[in-house]
Amino acid sequence: QALADTLKHQAQIDYLTGVLNRRGVEAEIKRELELAKIYSLSVAVFMLDLDYFKRFNDLHGHMDGDICLKRVSERLSKIVAEQRGIIGRYGGEEFIVALPGCGRDFTVRFADQLRQAVSDLKIPLKRGQPEIVTASVGYCMREASEVDDINSLISLADARLYTCKEKGRNCSAGDLPLYNAVQAVASSATG
Ligand code: GH3
Ligand code: MG
Ligand code: MG
Repeated sequence: QALADTLKHQAQIDYLTGVLNRRGVEAEIKRELELAKIYSLSVAVFMLDLDYFKRFNDLHGHMDGDICLKRVSERLSKIVAEQRGIIGRYGGEEFIVALPGCGRDFTVRFADQLRQAVSDLKIPLKRGQPEIVTASVGYCMREASEVDDINSLISLADARLYTCKEKGRNCSAGDLPLYNAVQAVASSATG
């Protein structure tokens, strides 16, 4: 049983960065969504993608590219752990983060905190040039009770990530509900 548990754990970890891999993080986020439904919480999903990372690899080589991914992953993991969130490597240079119980303002600020964390590392994009590695963050927040399938949240966050890339990168963009729970209660109480 111990061996089976170890193998199962390894199958859910990204070998390069040590964070959850796509399979692992999807499973964790699904579990988090079910808990958030029970406790009537919101759920926010953030998709972070490094900007121009192909160029970084072309200029520095894949080994340095790997080191860069590890550094980004370590930094993001710390920030996410502070909020008791979930982080995973969703694809090559793309990370996914999920947090339960976020309000609108917190969600907006947290997305930008993730973005800022990458630029704060000040990893040079080109040797001898001021340009640094940056990231774009697309996100989505909903009340868990309104979410049937976590993939719908991921798709919305992904669409916003695409918006960030179109807007020029190193930015964040989100899809938030029109009303939050507090406003909804307040408006029904006042008729
Ligand atoms: P954009 O700003 O539009 O996201 O541009 P981009 O270059 O980051 O995006 P693109 O999808 O064209 O390229 C992603 C690059 O990420 C391609 C690949 O070389 C690199 N990459 C993906 N996984 C790894 C990895 O595990 N290690 C390294 N070193 N590079 C990786
Ligand atoms: Mg990219
Ligand atoms: Mg990508």
